[in-house]
Amino acid sequence: MVDLKGQYNKIKDQIDTAVIQTIESTGFINGPIVKEFSKSLEEYLGVKHVIPCANGTDALQIALMALSLKPGDEVICPSFTYVATAEVISLLGLTPVMSDVDPDTFNITAEIIKPLITSKTKAIVPVHLYGQSCDMEGIMNLADEFGLYVIEDNAQAIGAKYTFSDGIEKNTGTIGHIGTTSFFPSKNLGCYGDGGAMFTNDVEIAKNLKMIANHGQEVKYYHKVTGCNSRLDSIQAAILNIKLNHLDSYSSSRNKMAKYYDESFSEISELSIPKRQHNSTHVFHQYTLKILPELRNSLIDFLKENNIPVMIYYPVPLYKQEAFSNYVTSDFTITNVEELCNTVFSLPIHTEIENSSQEFITQKIKEFFNK
Ligand SMILES: *Cc1c(COP(=O)(O)O)cnc(C)c1O
Repeated sequence: MVDLKGQYNKIKDQIDTAVIQTIESTGFINGPIVKEFSKSLEEYLGVKHVIPCANGTDALQIALMALSLKPGDEVICPSFTYVATAEVISLLGLTPVMSDVDPDTFNITAEIIKPLITSKTKAIVPVHLYGQSCDMEGIMNLADEFGLYVIEDNAQAIGAKYTFSDGIEKNTGTIGHIGTTSFFPSKNLGCYGDGGAMFTNDVEIAKNLKMIANHGQEVKYYHKVTGCNSRLDSIQAAILNIKLNHLDSYSSSRNKMAKYYDESFSEISELSIPKRQHNSTHVFHQYTLKILPELRNSLIDFLKENNIPVMIYYPVPLYKQEAFSNYVTSDFTITNVEELCNTVFSLPIHTEIENSSQEFITQKIKEFFNK
């Protein structure tokens, strides 16, 4: 689905030098490069504080821990997302309230989540799915109205920009109280192992995030709260510090591929191409189409026969996962989400277009539909 080797080959000299320098420095944990990368990312995102951590799931967990929520407090999240979003809510003894999403943008909206707000609701976790921002203006207004925290799960949308109705543009992940991301290798800004980060403009929240990620201590061996151990290691930071310089060009390559797919599929009425939200840029973490459910399996089989990678993100709504069965009744269902789980599929999307075989992919799909 991604071409990590082709991407590495283009920046190999820089990466190899940086990795070897880090090894020779022996500052494997919390070396100066970790701070340097955090600063670079703060500048790139236009956010006051970037706090690195071990992965995107930890980032979500630590973000929730920093808000002093109590067991039983409700946190609204989409039911059409990666499991991590709801998992950390449940892990902390909070109650995930799994929402519907807009069937065209795949994201939650203020209108969709408003009826789910109760006196126990304390936070909303919007996910900018596949690389496009949720309607953050609506969600932030709703959060203000009801006094709720907003944690943006930005694992799939780093580099995407959202424009408010007054014309102000912000990076996704910097709009809510806290934003989180993952540097998993296949993410848009991926390292060569695990990594993650949290973003905030609030100095008190930043202190809490940092303290919790570091065993609940601000001063070594004095532990204020029960924290955890979640660090971005120096080698990953060195790699990310180089890759950050390429993030915008990676996003534009992804957009070029997306446009080519759009144009190639415009005649195929059985497919719906991804809808763009007017006030957000798209960084195409995934290029995700919808197809009639009765055709999906045969198309996937056909693509696999032709060695074309294809994935379904995500085949099962979160509320149907056994792990979350105690939060819903057994007959609980959301029509839009069920339908998405039965209709979506994602095609390869690369930063190295020349290696992408995109023409072959689109030809084969046209052939499947006799176009
Ligand atoms: C990848 C991802 C995460 C988790 O990140 P990890 O680094 O794998 O822990 C969380 N949320 C979403 C939406 C993701 O895509």
